[in-house]
Amino acid sequence: MLRTEQGIVIKRFPYSEANTGIKILTEEGQILTLTAYGILSSKKRSNLISEPGSLISVTYYEHTHSTGALKEGNVVEDFEEIKKNYDSLLVLSYILELTDAAVKGEKNSGFYNLLYGALQEMKKTDIFERGFKMKKNRSSLDNLGDIFWLYAFLGFYKIRIVKLLGLLGDTGICANCGNPLGGRVKFAVPDVSFLCENCTDGTSASEASASGAHMAEWIRFAAVNRFQKYLSYLPPTSETIMESLTEMDHYLNRTLEYFFSKILTSKIQLYKYIGS
Ligand SMILES: [Zn+2]
Repeated sequence: MLRTEQGIVIKRFPYSEANTGIKILTEEGQILTLTAYGILSSKKRSNLISEPGSLISVTYYEHTHSTGALKEGNVVEDFEEIKKNYDSLLVLSYILELTDAAVKGEKNSGFYNLLYGALQEMKKTDIFERGFKMKKNRSSLDNLGDIFWLYAFLGFYKIRIVKLLGLLGDTGICANCGNPLGGRVKFAVPDVSFLCENCTDGTSASEASASGAHMAEWIRFAAVNRFQKYLSYLPPTSETIMESLTEMDHYLNRTLEYFFSKILTSKIQLYKYIGS
């Protein structure tokens, strides 16, 4: 049956010597894998349609509910701004691979909306034009704003992925005793939940700290608000806040790595590049 869908290219891969495979996250939030027969013979067409991070519209012959053969396609939005430099490409690869690893089974348009929103935010920001100066001068205050944005962005994306995967616990109460959280708090992995100062669950919980209480608050806020609101909700950039944001990112990574049972290649590349 001939079908038409719109979606974001997650991945392009060689299918055989002459053919290309394209993995798309559709608007409905499903991964669709299409074979583009002979597409490599038409280089221009192939690059435009199958470029990771492009929003495309495709008409295809359906094979199963998640596979098919591409008949024709066109680019709806190419997000060219994001693909212009190495820094933003690294971040793009990371969020695409994260999304690919997270979307399994049931359709969930939340994944599509999250990815589409993230591409819009990446297109708008000017931090990539400055080319991660923070990579070289991590401690320089001039660059703190850029790295702050990056960690806020990555953290937000992962909080939402964790939420969509159903891994987000109640961030308002202690996961062990149920008392409201306040003061000093421990982050508990692999599920994203928190423990009060008096509790321990014997797993890999962090030390109880005031920054733990911040993280619980930020996660609670990011789970239900838009990225721009979250950005303005976060305290002004400072070394201390940066440390908490980085620490939260680290716990979110641990949760996702536990869930995916692997460390993503693009994650290793990105974190090596930004020097953490
Ligand atoms: Zn407790």
